[in-house]
Amino acid sequence: MNIEDVKKVCVIGAGNMGHQIALSAAIAGYQVSCTDISQEMLSKAEAFARSYLPERVAKGKLTQEQADLGLKNISFTQSLEEAAGDSDFVIEAAVEKINIKRKLFADLDRITPTRTILATNSSFIVSSKIADVTKRPDKVCNMHFFNPALVMKLVEVVQGPHTSTETAQITMDLCKKMGKNGAWLKKEIYGFLVNRILAALHHEAEFLADMGIATPEEIDMAVTDALGHPMGPFRLMDFTGIDLAYYIGMERYQETRDPKDKPSPLIVEKFTKGEWGRKTKKGFYSYE
Ligand code: NAD
Repeated sequence: MNIEDVKKVCVIGAGNMGHQIALSAAIAGYQVSCTDISQEMLSKAEAFARSYLPERVAKGKLTQEQADLGLKNISFTQSLEEAAGDSDFVIEAAVEKINIKRKLFADLDRITPTRTILATNSSFIVSSKIADVTKRPDKVCNMHFFNPALVMKLVEVVQGPHTSTETAQITMDLCKKMGKNGAWLKKEIYGFLVNRILAALHHEAEFLADMGIATPEEIDMAVTDALGHPMGPFRLMDFTGIDLAYYIGMERYQETRDPKDKPSPLIVEKFTKGEWGRKTKKGFYSYE
């Protein structure tokens, strides 16, 4: 099999990530079927596609023909069988729960043709924790997009010990066809590239704040004004949720028992006070 054999892409999950991954693939010319257990999410995803495409045409970013083709190429259904049945490539972007992903992959193994590649967009679950439920582990890999998926160029393609080089290569080729830059990780590692680099930056930033060396505002300023990042780590946590940083840290610590993976005292303090960032109107910054 090679990339030219990929004609139909199925995207599972129409949430934050899935609806934009599906639309990216449709704009790239693939026939896309997007499925979700929630009809509400599917309707939202369809409404988004109908408003996004004309906006892109108005901004001169897409031609009318490309937009028409994008809309014609994409369909939405609650039926997994209908969406995945005749697909050549599946991108799973359902909730980050391992049992749900394992069940989905077992179903997909039964539903899809044996040639079909099954990729997961999971941020943290490596595909070797899922591939064993299928009879085609060589066709299972991670394909990790970034949020918002229509805008962000990078996709991490992770080749597990079970993943064939052919599967990784086709996944890289699909990234290119979708206008993305694929980074091919030859081995599985927790957090892949980007989340590991980000974690190292956060770890150091939190250490400096915990030690009272500088305030979160000053540390953010160092990262934006000297390193050129669009946002510092504390501002970013306010956006993504300090509660999420706490839960990810706790979960990681439970797995590794490495004290450096524990949420820092500053994160624990903010979490306990209920100051979780923008969503609670207060985090490291105030949003009143
Ligand atoms: P989300 O909660 O916005 O969407 C998940 C969707 O999955 C929901 O619409 C839900 O109804 C649906 N769903 C749940 N169970 C399902 C099932 N059995 N079959 C079909 N659909 C089902 O989540 P999200 O932020 O889009 O994240 C999805 C995946 O992408 C996760 O694995 C996450 O780790 C990964 N990811 C998220 C981001 C991000 O910034 N949000 C970035 C990269 C990767």
